[in-house]
Amino acid sequence: MTDLARQVVDLGASLFARGLTAGRTGNISVRDGDRVLLTPTGVSLGALAELSVLDTGGRHLGGPPPTKEAFLHLAFYRARPQTSAVVHTHSTHSAAVSCLAGLDPSNALPPLTAYYAMRVGSLPLLPYHAPGDTSLGALAEEEAREHHALLLANHGPIAAGGDLAAAADAVEEIEETARIFLLLRNTETAPLTPDQVAALRA
Ligand SMILES: [Zn+2]
Repeated sequence: MTDLARQVVDLGASLFARGLTAGRTGNISVRDGDRVLLTPTGVSLGALAELSVLDTGGRHLGGPPPTKEAFLHLAFYRARPQTSAVVHTHSTHSAAVSCLAGLDPSNALPPLTAYYAMRVGSLPLLPYHAPGDTSLGALAEEEAREHHALLLANHGPIAAGGDLAAAADAVEEIEETARIFLLLRNTETAPLTPDQVAALRA
């Protein structure tokens, strides 16, 4: 197993051990030159052994069959040439927020903390699509040109990064902020102001 593949296996085990994925949900990919290593379909992130290998066009080059959500990962690699890794989970609190009525589709979560503002920024909400409906890929690709993290309605978060740690950090930050958001639901809150958010980006 290559060092890069080992990093995917270790991240999967870590996400699973901390309850950020359950059952056989969630998937991870990393770019390796002109190929993409992806977690396989039907395998728990806590028990990864072998990875699927695809080209960036989605052709299966080796290993077991990839996750059925591979098309979402490939949408990020097409839209963001600087992306080297993508992480997607069905983490409980993020998934709960993705089921709420009345969210702002251009930004599903307010900037409650500085870390959220720095690691995620804005989080567009993509409309619900049935599992395997690849028309979601075109929407994700369009939004991914401007945003490295997206929330899929009635589903969960997906985030890209320059490396695996950055992509995982973004998904974990979404989950933590979703948890805070739900704890504060129906309570008056004071998110960061636009000036405070702008100062973090400077
Ligand atoms: Zn999913």
